[in-house]
Amino acid sequence: MKVRLLPSSIAADAQRQFLTTLLVDDAVAIDAGSLGFALTSEEMRRIGHILITHAHADHTASLPIFVSEVFPTLTAPVIVHATPPVVDALRRFVFNGEIWPDFAQIPLLNGRGPALEFCPMEPGKTFGIGNFQVTPISVNHLVPTVGVVVEDQQTGFVFTSDTYVTDEIWAAANRSERIKTVFVDVSYPNEMENLAVASKHFTPCSLAGDLKKLTRDVPVRVVHIKPSHRDAVLAQLSELRDPRISAVEIGHTYEW
Ligand SMILES: [Zn+2]
Ligand SMILES: [Zn+2]
Repeated sequence: MKVRLLPSSIAADAQRQFLTTLLVDDAVAIDAGSLGFALTSEEMRRIGHILITHAHADHTASLPIFVSEVFPTLTAPVIVHATPPVVDALRRFVFNGEIWPDFAQIPLLNGRGPALEFCPMEPGKTFGIGNFQVTPISVNHLVPTVGVVVEDQQTGFVFTSDTYVTDEIWAAANRSERIKTVFVDVSYPNEMENLAVASKHFTPCSLAGDLKKLTRDVPVRVVHIKPSHRDAVLAQLSELRDPRISAVEIGHTYEW
């Protein structure tokens, strides 16, 4: 299984993450923050399924751009998997005919259905995308948000999406021997704990507390570090002296 955190900065330092998109085996995207501009047209055309963890702009910003970019060559609808409140938000605030055309109503050029299809998913209910089994798990964020467990026959990973202190996603990571890595949100440094609590994100310190719930010895790879606080967060993560923890290198393909 291959996972890559797509870049979201075209400025000098590519290791600044403003937006979230994880690309799995070059075929499935989790979130669409930078999906519409971080890949070549050919790479974009390989992606048939997009899972949206929550409606926040940093996870959905370039979804409309992606859909219109791939539209001329689509032979089947782009499938967007999301929970009902997220589907509702995307319909009302993005694909509403004002911010962007409603691609769910626009037929494919070959006439085989609409360009975009929303496929509702329910927290706790596993479903299939190609060879993957995907289980969305509710996490603790400002708006309805799921983390995801993604598995194939041999291996898998967990992505917490945006969350503060939570339980169920760690239990899910403990349950399956196939889980080989966890991608986790750490947004702010410890001195900004108040903002982290208010916006429901981890700091290195609150992550360390929650990691006591993860009983397995798997790599814990940190994403979603706010660009202006990256250096402080990296320093505090290394002070935790937990050998499982490292920051994700943006653009690097993690394979296991
Ligand atoms: Zn969020
Ligand atoms: Zn976010």
